[in-house]
Amino acid sequence: MSSTRPGAAATQEQDWPAYVEDFRRAGHEVVDWIAHYLEHTRDYPVLPKVKPGDLTVALPRSAPDKGESYDAILKDFDNIILPAVTHWNHPRFMAYFACTGSAPAILAEALSAALNTNGLSWKSSPAISELEQVALGWLRQWMGLPDDYFGIIYDTASISTLHAIAAARDMADPNVRTEGARPILTLYTSQESHASVEKGAIALGIGQNNVRKIPSDAEFRLRPEALVEAIEKDLAGGKRPFCVVATVGTTSTTSVDPVSAMADIAERYGLWLHIDAAYAGAAAILPEYQHILRGAERAHSLVVNAHKWLFTPVDLSAFFTRRPEILRRAFSLIPDYLQAAGGPGALNLTASDLGVPLGRRFRALKLWFMMRYFGRERIQAILRSHIAWAKRFEQVVRSDPRFEVVAPVPFSVVCFRYKGTNEENSALMESANSTGEVFISHTVLHGQVALRLAIGNLGTTWDDVERAWELLQEKAPKSR
Ligand SMILES: *Cc1c(COP(=O)(O)O)cnc(C)c1O
Repeated sequence: MSSTRPGAAATQEQDWPAYVEDFRRAGHEVVDWIAHYLEHTRDYPVLPKVKPGDLTVALPRSAPDKGESYDAILKDFDNIILPAVTHWNHPRFMAYFACTGSAPAILAEALSAALNTNGLSWKSSPAISELEQVALGWLRQWMGLPDDYFGIIYDTASISTLHAIAAARDMADPNVRTEGARPILTLYTSQESHASVEKGAIALGIGQNNVRKIPSDAEFRLRPEALVEAIEKDLAGGKRPFCVVATVGTTSTTSVDPVSAMADIAERYGLWLHIDAAYAGAAAILPEYQHILRGAERAHSLVVNAHKWLFTPVDLSAFFTRRPEILRRAFSLIPDYLQAAGGPGALNLTASDLGVPLGRRFRALKLWFMMRYFGRERIQAILRSHIAWAKRFEQVVRSDPRFEVVAPVPFSVVCFRYKGTNEENSALMESANSTGEVFISHTVLHGQVALRLAIGNLGTTWDDVERAWELLQEKAPKSR
């Protein structure tokens, strides 16, 4: 690609055709680059072989005064940026929660940037407001969620949960938004829940000390009797319990809290029940897994990340609530008489009134592209393979006496360990990861380091999982 007019002042009318032509040429090249990348992702080391600061020193300290050609920029992308990238889209990325930026969603992201349309309100972008409702309605149906769940897209599960806690606080006391909380409000979640629950409470001024980490059972599920005990203790101490957060698919072991029992308790004490299903909520698309959301019909809100196990690139978090009017009461700064008048959809179409962000990019487009391109049956088939391979991996690990499986495997994540010291397990993980062939992560369970293998990438095959196991077997000390 040769650029005749690098950085030409595109604001000038006579330069515009050249600016567009430049884009067209580079754009074709970039699409070819992406297609090649999707074909050959395995050729890249999953983890980059760079040291902190390597990228920074390779780049100029100041931005250029004169514009540069796409040629020059893309060359540096290849030579300087790419070597510092951790390849989350790699079929052997099996750390944290494996995920996928799928091809249809990649195209949708490009189109969304081209339009640069911003969803402050229905009028500021009817397409964002309405497609968001349509796509989330489809997702709600796929997941078997009740019709009275209203959906809204935020960036991350952390922000979705923050909004849930804010709504919970408003339900407990509508004056909180003007007067602050008194008496002290208390929130309940399991000790296995994601840090975002505590962070949300910190951000909202609930206070870290008023977040109760309820003990979990031997399978890492919240213990309902311990929840009741903690609530009773707070009530006796003059506190005001207001919110309980259940996790369906915890970040460490993917355990599932007893949502129905927690819904009973939430009802008894008048608490908002939020379900954090950031990763595992996707499994509810399988009829045989819909039971994981039993009790959701009595919850107040739920979050599931499309950017985890739903083939959508970061970021897209789907937040559902059965009480959108409370969410709006918590955040709206527009007097009622200025609200979009009439129609059953009026509430639904003022997303910026339902949370902190004003500007909202066109995230729904990639979800819609993804759902249409794959369709429910293909998504189901992929999720089923991931789950089946996790079970198979579990069996394979169990068959080697040097290893043990240390948590149940309800979804597509396996927690296991070499029967040795924490140091040996950490060293084993490091040496497998340092090959660049695979990336697995770890967690700590009952004080012991456990390795975590997460399956969830569209391109992953059983061969990839098997290769990860070969590497681990190879690197593990021979006898025990
Ligand atoms: C990943 C995860 C989160 C955080 O997701 P973000 O979108 O990165 O904020 C929250 N809760 C659970 C259970 C998760 O697995």
